[in-house]
Amino acid sequence: MNYRGRSYCGRFNLSDVGRDVQLFGWVDALRDHGDILFIHLRDRSGIVQMVFSPEYASKEICRQASILRNEFCITVSGRVTERSKGTENPFIETGNIEVIATDLTILSQSRALPFSISEKAMVAGAALVTEAVSEDLRLQYRYLDLRRPTMQDFLFKRHQLNKCVREYFDAKGFIEVETPMLTKSTPEGARDYLVPSRHHPRHFYALPQSPQLFKQLLMISGFERYYQLTRCFRDEDLRPNRQPEFTQLDLEASFIDEAFIFELIEALLVRMFEIGGITLPQPFSRMTWQEAVESTGTDRPDLRFGLRFVETTDIFSHTRYSIFKQILHRGGYIKGFNVKGASQHLSKNILQNEYAKEIVPGFGAKGMTWMRVTHGKLDSNIVQFFSETEQRSVMERFGAENGDVILMIADPSRSLVNTALGHLRLHVGHRLDMIPQDTYCPVWITDFPLFEVTDNGIASHHHPFTAPDRTDFDPENPEELMSLMSRAYDIVINGEELGGGSIRIHQKELQQKIFQALNLSDQEVEEKFGFFLNAFEYGPPPHGGLALGMDRVAAMILKTTSIREVTAFPKNRSAFCPLTQAPAEVAHEQLAELGLLDIRGKQELPGAWHQKDRIDHLSWVSRIGIRDGERPEIQSAIADAVRMAEHVTAHAGDREQEPAFSVFALENRFRDVSCPDPCPQRDISELFKNAPAVKGDYFKVATILE
Ligand code: ASP
Repeated sequence: MNYRGRSYCGRFNLSDVGRDVQLFGWVDALRDHGDILFIHLRDRSGIVQMVFSPEYASKEICRQASILRNEFCITVSGRVTERSKGTENPFIETGNIEVIATDLTILSQSRALPFSISEKAMVAGAALVTEAVSEDLRLQYRYLDLRRPTMQDFLFKRHQLNKCVREYFDAKGFIEVETPMLTKSTPEGARDYLVPSRHHPRHFYALPQSPQLFKQLLMISGFERYYQLTRCFRDEDLRPNRQPEFTQLDLEASFIDEAFIFELIEALLVRMFEIGGITLPQPFSRMTWQEAVESTGTDRPDLRFGLRFVETTDIFSHTRYSIFKQILHRGGYIKGFNVKGASQHLSKNILQNEYAKEIVPGFGAKGMTWMRVTHGKLDSNIVQFFSETEQRSVMERFGAENGDVILMIADPSRSLVNTALGHLRLHVGHRLDMIPQDTYCPVWITDFPLFEVTDNGIASHHHPFTAPDRTDFDPENPEELMSLMSRAYDIVINGEELGGGSIRIHQKELQQKIFQALNLSDQEVEEKFGFFLNAFEYGPPPHGGLALGMDRVAAMILKTTSIREVTAFPKNRSAFCPLTQAPAEVAHEQLAELGLLDIRGKQELPGAWHQKDRIDHLSWVSRIGIRDGERPEIQSAIADAVRMAEHVTAHAGDREQEPAFSVFALENRFRDVSCPDPCPQRDISELFKNAPAVKGDYFKVATILE
C-alpha cells in the first residue's frame, strides 16, 4: 500500500490545484448524475469532493465507481482542480476544490448502514437531513458512530486535553505513576466492583473507586508530586450522566497547602478550557460550603445568574398568617428570592397553579408563597394576611420594585428550604432564559462539614482521609463531630462539580480517631486499612491532593451535555454496553473455576434464583412482602409470564407465527383487614402523607432532567 505518498482529504486548498494525489478513506455521500458521479471522500482529516467522469477516468474505473455505496473503504487517485464558480461548497473546508478521479480501488465494501453517518451536505445551500437515532443504536454500532466528524472531533480534542495535562504536570515536576486496578476497597462512598480471584478461592479484588490510598502511599514513599490519568470504578445508582467506569485526573503533593492546589488547578483548567476556545475568568471565586448552600441551595452553585436567597424568617416572627405561624412555631425558616422584572412572564396563574401547586411540591416543599409587585405594593392571594410592617420589610429586604416577583418557601427544616429553593432557582433561571450559555463561572467551594448524617449513622462528607479543621475533638461525641469542618475543597463550574480533594490527615493517631468516629471497630480498621495505617508509622509527610473528573471536564469544554459523547465506548444509561452486550452471563465452568458455585455453603448455579424462588426475588425487587397464603396465586401468574416469555423466545423472528398476546388482569388489591399484621398505611391518604404532590389516587414524582 502506497501510504508514503498519501494525501489527506481535509487538507487541500487552492494552492494544491494541479497536483496529482492519492487518497484513502470512506465514501461519506454520493450524488449520481448518470454519466458523472460525485462522492464525498472522508478520512480523519476531513472531506473532499471526488468526481468520476468518463472524460478523465477509464470505462472500467467508471463502472467500479458506479457500485460505490456509503462507507465503502476506497483509495482513489486523481488531480486537484478548482471548482467552477457557483459550485463551491461552504460546508466543507475543501469546498473550493475537487479531485478529478483517474483511478479507484475498492478496499472493502460496507453493508447498508443502520443510521446515516454523513454530516455534510454535498450541495451548497442544501439542508442536511439528519435523522434522530436512538442512543442505544448508536452505541451498538459505536465503531460507525465514531466515524462521524463530530465524534472524531470530540476524541481528537480529548486527546489534546490529555496531552495538555501531561505536559503541564511534567513541567511542574509531577510524575505519572500507575496504581493497581486489582486492589482492595477504597472508600469513596460507592459500592465496589469486585473481581473474583481464581488463585484465592472466595477472595475478591475490588476495582479502585479512586487511587486514593496508593497516592497517599506514594507521598509516604517520598515522590512528593504525583499525577495520573486513570480509570476509576464506582457501582452507584444509575443516573443519566454517570458511568460505572470513568477517568480521573488524580494528583497528590507533599509539603503543600490549599493555596498550592488552587493555584495549580486554576492554571491547568485555564489551559484546558482554551482548547475549547473558552477563556475562564481568573482568579476563580471562592465560597464556603455554608455560603453556597445558604445562597443557592446547593454546594454546586451555578453562579452564571443571580436569584440569591434572602432570609426572611425574622420578618414574620409575629405574623398572623397561619401557615408561616405554624411553621415558625415548629422552629422553621422562611427564605426566598426576587425574580427582578419577571411579572410579565410569571402570571398569577403560572405562580399559583404551576409553581405553588405542581412544581415546588415536586422539589419536596409543601408549597410556595409568591408575591408580585405592582403600584409599589405586594400583590398575591395571601398578602392580605401580612401586616403593613411585614409587607414593608419584605419589599425592603428583597429590594423589590414594580414588576418584580418574590418567591418564598417556608418549612420546619432549613435544609429543605434551601434545597427546594435551589431547585426552584434553577427552574426559574432556565424558564426565563436567565442563564447565559457562553459564560463560565468557576468557584472553589471550601469549609465543608467533615461528617454528614446518613441512615446508618455518620459518614465522611468527602472520604475518611480528609483532614479536619481541628484535632482536639472527642470521637465519641456526635454533636462535636457534626460541628467539625474539613480541609476539603471542590471545584465547581456552572453548577457542575468538576473535581474535589483535600488536605489529608498525616498523623496515625488522628486517622485512627476518625475511624473511631465513623464507628469502625479495631478489627474492621485492621482488616480494611491495616496496611495503610502501618505506613503512617514511618514518617508520613503532610500532603494533599485532588481529582478532576476528566469526562465531565471534557464534556463541558466540548460543549456537550453528556459524558457519553466524549467517551469512545461508554455504557448506556443502564450501565449496559449495547456493543459488547456486557455484562453477560458466564459459563458454569468459569464460575466453578472461580469457586463461585458454593459460596458460604450455598450451591448457587448461574441464574439459580429463577429456579429457586422467583417469588422471593420478585418480592425483593418490588419491595413488597409476600405472605404464604398469597404465594400460589402469584406463583401461577409468574408461571404464565414465564410460559409467554418462552413462547416469544422460541418463536422470535418466525414470520408464520400468529401474533401472541397475554393479558394479566390489573387490579389494586388491599390486604384483608382481618390479617394478623394489617398494614397501618392501608388508608390511601396515610400512604400519601409524605408524598410531595398527590393527584387523585396517585402521587407525582419530580421530573428528572438530564
Ligand atoms: N480521591 C478523591 C475522589 O476520587 C479525590 C481526592 O480527594 O483526591 O473523589
